[in-house]
Amino acid sequence: SQAAKGTEVPEWKKIASGRGAEMGKRSNLSIKEQRETLPAFKMRRQFLEAVRQYQLMIVVGDTGSGKTTQLTQYLAEDGYGNNGLMIGCTQPRRVAAMSVAQRVSDEVGCRLGEEVGYTIRFEDKTSDRTRIKYMTDGILQREILLDPELNKYSVIMLDEAHERTIATDVLFGLLKKTLKRRPDMKVIITSATLDAEKFSSYFLECPILTIPGRTFPVEIMYSRDPESDYLDSALTTVMQIHLTEPAGDILLFLTGKEEIDTSCEILYERMKALGPSVPELVILPIYGALPSEIASRIFEPAAEGSRKVVIATNIAETSITIDGIYFVIDPGFVKQTAYDAKLGMDRLQVTPISQAQAKQRAGRAGRTGPGKCFRLYTESAFQNEMLPTTIPEIQRQNLANTILMLKAMGINDLLGFDFMDPPPTNTMLTALEELYALSALDDEGLLTRMGRRVADFPMEPTLAKSLIISVELGCSEEMLSIVAMISAVQTVFHRPKEKQQQADQKKARFHDPAGDHLTLLNVYQGWAGAGKGDPWCFENFVQPRSMRRVEDVRKQLVQIFERHRLRIVSCGRESLRVRQALCAGFFRNSARKDPQEGYKTLVEGTPVFMHPSSALFGKAAEHVIYHSLVETTREYMHNVTAIEPKWLVEAAPTFFKVAGRDGGMSRRKREEVIKPLHNRFAGEDDWRLSAQRRQG
Ligand code: ADP
Ligand code: MG
Repeated sequence: SQAAKGTEVPEWKKIASGRGAEMGKRSNLSIKEQRETLPAFKMRRQFLEAVRQYQLMIVVGDTGSGKTTQLTQYLAEDGYGNNGLMIGCTQPRRVAAMSVAQRVSDEVGCRLGEEVGYTIRFEDKTSDRTRIKYMTDGILQREILLDPELNKYSVIMLDEAHERTIATDVLFGLLKKTLKRRPDMKVIITSATLDAEKFSSYFLECPILTIPGRTFPVEIMYSRDPESDYLDSALTTVMQIHLTEPAGDILLFLTGKEEIDTSCEILYERMKALGPSVPELVILPIYGALPSEIASRIFEPAAEGSRKVVIATNIAETSITIDGIYFVIDPGFVKQTAYDAKLGMDRLQVTPISQAQAKQRAGRAGRTGPGKCFRLYTESAFQNEMLPTTIPEIQRQNLANTILMLKAMGINDLLGFDFMDPPPTNTMLTALEELYALSALDDEGLLTRMGRRVADFPMEPTLAKSLIISVELGCSEEMLSIVAMISAVQTVFHRPKEKQQQADQKKARFHDPAGDHLTLLNVYQGWAGAGKGDPWCFENFVQPRSMRRVEDVRKQLVQIFERHRLRIVSCGRESLRVRQALCAGFFRNSARKDPQEGYKTLVEGTPVFMHPSSALFGKAAEHVIYHSLVETTREYMHNVTAIEPKWLVEAAPTFFKVAGRDGGMSRRKREEVIKPLHNRFAGEDDWRLSAQRRQG
């Protein structure tokens, strides 16, 4: 049952003939003309007047209307970037921050990083001259921690507010406070779709400016029956559109990098099999981890007579607008992080999208002309199985990071914090418990010295804790390299399809018997020992640009070390200490070999498996810790290291205790069998929260 089957639109021919002309015209427009055709342009004066009059306002407009790229420029043209102040604009996604900054610097006519720049984690492309700064919401959250008044900025635009990321939600509350202290500062909340009433009442009944849309009708097609293999039917639909539908590019929504890369390959093969008589299909992937050079190719129009298919994660739902899309294929899924009670941690999960997301996706087909959206699910699934709107991240994710940050800002009354949608009390308790086990909070729920330091490292508290503890354990030199390798890129290894075996053999030479963290260290040390050059990388199937990025991140971490006067010491060959340091952060992510198959987590006894790419794959490691879990066909541990169970007890005595300490077990047995204490607080009456209430 292909979604495309049996759908006829007689008008298509007519539309198609008009369309070529329209598209040609658009691409010939000068940048100034292009800017002036955007819907936002008609609202320019009204917008600037409202900004002058109100300190806080909401702007709602369809995707592609020019909110992200134009409003900042209007503000700069009106002088808000003068006197050394900046116009800051947040984006939930890194790729979006980079790509809009690139686009706006082109429009302004400057080099990226001069008047227009961006900042994402570990990468700052701004200068003294920067007047418009795009950044992730996570970056602004860090900046407001260091300077609650945000004195560098004249205006903050919280963009893509409908995404409701945790960082944006927290910034909502924090910026309300900042505004009171900075009467001269402006805050603009922008969004594609928005529960405008709810937002306005949360934001003190502030005014809402609506940019009138310029959209064309989109015809929606549903699958007749549920799809058993959405990937296959998505690719078949791409081919059908390409071979039977008139001109116009295709946008296909998939859930992640692996799925997208595989699909690109399959499509490429299928096209090749059809021979040269079929028109060309330009296949372009877009996801978060893609280098920006490749990412910018998705905006280039396809050559005359050929068609472009962009295969994207939900980044193309609202944050990035690609012109010329007439066909959208929506399998109805998204990969998102959610707290998994069975694992006791956040996990990336493929889940059905909400109705609001489905509408957004369909809308992408109607920007340049009337379009079509192929939904690879049934109409009844849309009506009955999808939630009307997406649940905000703050209500479904681990909050350890967020709570640590609020505590570091001196905000101790978490229950009293002005959240638009408060997180469930249980989620807050879990996070508090986690921070307590990491000794980032004390018995009273107050920030410890360790917590203060952890908060200063731009990474998960677990990784930061391991890094800080490595100073005491005398292995910070090594840990810095490992943390940089993990934080900078998804992987440094290059594994081209034609040479997988060769690449795997090279990688295996770095494998450390103790696991993947030390394997990463071996790679870093190998590279450093060879003079940090590219030839070594090519020889060893390592990506040179990834290594350069690792080095850059490492330098930044060293700077934080210097700020905190943390010593950089090497353990030489005593790498056992590195593994102990890892335990200090990742004790929750511990698992024990199961006599049957795979591993079971110590915390909940959930089955998990060694990833085939791990240095420990097929090895006999009894106890391990892992950095993360990746779900494909089963739950795989990623970056795994073998440990001694007693290290867990040493690392987190409040969390683990040796089972039967008072019983008659042998010492060996005691050390081996470990019982988590994660329910430790269950019976106690929310003592940390009441402690905060007293203070608040
Ligand atoms: P909004 O934020 O309202 O969704 P944008 O300001 O992102 O809208 O986009 C306005 C226009 O700029 C769109 O037509 C979009 O296609 C175009 N645009 C945005 N980024 C790029 C880019 N990197 N290259 C080419 N065009 C772009
Ligand atoms: Mg935008």
